[in-house]
This record gives sequence, C-alpha cells and structure tokens, in this order.
Amino acid sequence: MKITITRDNKEVEYNIKQENTTLLGALDYIKENIDSSLAYRSGCKSGICGSCSVLVNDKESLACKCKVNDNDNIKPLKYVKLIKDLVVDLNHVEELLKKNKTYVEELSNKIITKKDESLIDVQSNCILCQSCYSSCPVYEVNKEFQGPYILTRVLRYVNDKKELNINNKLDVIQTNGIWDCTLCGNCTIVCPQFIDPKTDIMNLRMKSIQNGYADPTIQSNDFLNEFNNFDTGFNPNSF
Ligand code: SF4
Ligand code: SF4
Repeated sequence: MKITITRDNKEVEYNIKQENTTLLGALDYIKENIDSSLAYRSGCKSGICGSCSVLVNDKESLACKCKVNDNDNIKPLKYVKLIKDLVVDLNHVEELLKKNKTYVEELSNKIITKKDESLIDVQSNCILCQSCYSSCPVYEVNKEFQGPYILTRVLRYVNDKKELNINNKLDVIQTNGIWDCTLCGNCTIVCPQFIDPKTDIMNLRMKSIQNGYADPTIQSNDFLNEFNNFDTGFNPNSF
C-alpha cells in the first residue's frame, strides 16, 4: 500500500507493508522502518486526547481512529503555524481559551442538578483536536475569527448554571465571533466527538439577541428609513 505525506511543502511517497491498520499505525511503521525523522503527534491512541488530528485526503481526521487506505494523501492541519511535517503549533489554544473567558468567572451558590449538567454535557466532550478550526473557511479571510471550538466552549459556560456572569461571556464573542460564521457546517461534519458547533453558534446568536445584542449584519430601522427617503435626483418620468 502506498501513502503520500506532505513534508516541508513536498509530497513524499511511502510504501507500507501493513494492511488493515490505522493511519497512526502506518505513521509508526514509517518512523520505525523507513524514516525516523518523520514528525507527527500522538498521545492516547484511543481518540481521547485529540493530538493526532491531520488532513486525510483533505478532510480532518484523528490518525488513531481512521483506517489507512491505498493512495491516501496526508497533510498537516490548516490555518495553524507548521512546526515540522504533521506537527503544528498549538500555543494559540490556551490564549484563545483565556481571551474568550471559557471558565466560570462568578460562581453561583445554586445546587446543580442532573438536568443542569445535561445542558453542558455535549460541549464538555470537546477534546481540542483543532479539526473544526482547520475546516473553517472563515480563516481564509479573517485570522482573528474566534472559531468553532471556542464558540462551542463559550456556549458550554453560558449554559453552565454555576456561572453568574453570562453577559461578560456574550460580550467577548460579538466581534470576530458568532456573527462572522457563515453557518457552512464544516465544523460539525469533521468533529470526531459529534459536537455541533454550527448549532451552538446559532444558539449563541439567539442568546445574544435575548440579552440585548444586535445582529450587526441587519441594518437598523432608522438606517433603512433614511435610505428609503434618500433623494437620488433620479426622475423616471423624465425619460
Ligand atoms: S459553521 Fe461557522 S464556525 Fe463552523 S466551519 Fe462553517 S463558518 Fe466555521
Ligand atoms: S469541537 Fe470537535 S472538532 Fe472542534 S476541537 Fe472540539 S472535538 Fe475537535
């Protein structure tokens, strides 16, 4: 079986003797038997740590969970700084999480029920694999976009009954956040944890409007009235 790996912007072909293995198994095989300098990340080997996410035939996948096939084309994730081969720089993650206040800021004394917990169950399963980030087309045009997993995590804390300061969280996501998403759904398709960031973003839009924020893509009535009354000097009867 032959696979291609992009290394230093060049496609390199490898012949793998193993059949019926995961992509991570194939990468281990190459490192042990063909080229020990190949760089890639892996951790738990069980789809839990999220560290082995790469592009397989241009789709984000966890190397430990997907089966490798003949002619597969493997590349590093997009929109992140490349360190070497399939290893990308993840230093921005902590910064993004802090900037977007994805933690409890003001603790409530409320007793948390099972029902309360269920509101944040799905979003809490995010393993920060970066697959959704890499699949998001907004980064082509806006590198400051907060991104799907950050917004999903913000919703997790907005829905957390232990948090009293919801408005502080909603405040941060109004710029380069929920209104910049195109709702394409790529993030939802690639998520290995079956999280649905697109729907989470729609929920955050609804909660923002309920809390007094406005959708910046909709013109205010005042502006529309002014626009409709604007005299262009054009007189159709003059023709
Ligand atoms: S739905 Fe929004 S956040 Fe998700 S990939 Fe598309 S543009 Fe990015
Ligand atoms: S939301 Fe899904 S795809 Fe995005 S980082 Fe979390 S686990 Fe990965």
